[in-house]
Amino acid sequence: MAQNIIKWLGHAGFQITSEKGTVIVIDPWLTDNPVAPCKAEEITKADFVLVTHDHFDHIADAARIVKATGATLVGMPETVGRLKAEEGVPDSQIVFGTGMNIGGTLSSRGVLITMTQAFHSSQTGNPAGYIVKLEDGYTVYHAGDTGIFSSMKLLGDLFTIDLALLPIGGVFTMDAKQASAAAQLLEAKAVIPMHYKTFPILEQDASSFAEIMKKEASHIQVVILDPGQEHML
Ligand SMILES: [Zn+2]
Repeated sequence: MAQNIIKWLGHAGFQITSEKGTVIVIDPWLTDNPVAPCKAEEITKADFVLVTHDHFDHIADAARIVKATGATLVGMPETVGRLKAEEGVPDSQIVFGTGMNIGGTLSSRGVLITMTQAFHSSQTGNPAGYIVKLEDGYTVYHAGDTGIFSSMKLLGDLFTIDLALLPIGGVFTMDAKQASAAAQLLEAKAVIPMHYKTFPILEQDASSFAEIMKKEASHIQVVILDPGQEHML
């Protein structure tokens, strides 16, 4: 029986394939990524490519995948504008023709993609996160790069978050302790930690996150993946 599947592309990159076959790629950075499980050229099918912000470790392969697959590029106007100008992404493949912004929702192919706030920096536009509601209602929150913020509670009230993808690496984002609190604010049913291990200055594994979650929020499932590993949703 078909099922929704998520695959970790390493760092903040994920590929979600819905039960109906819709493929959503988030923050693809495979070229020169030391933990990349595959090459960008190996992603041959995508319907949507979402970028949370304009830093190389989130956006490097977005234009390449969009152009190779015919996917719709979802991002901030300034960020998709840069990929249009510098990497030739056509208007026809840019969400709403111009990009979208925080609070906006794209409804396409039975999938809802809502852009949410994030607190970080970005070369163009502002940083963001996404809430993706698949055709069958299963809902995934990708926080992007961010510190914790109290309106995660509001996101948890507005959306039933089945799975939260949360950074735990520290330095540039939340660390394990903040991510544990974030998971609780969001009332997520499950969490996959991300944005760790890739660089020497980041937290090197998810063990302290798993430990804190066990102590503070044992009702939330923690799923620790290796780059390239898939998880059934
Ligand atoms: Zn990052």
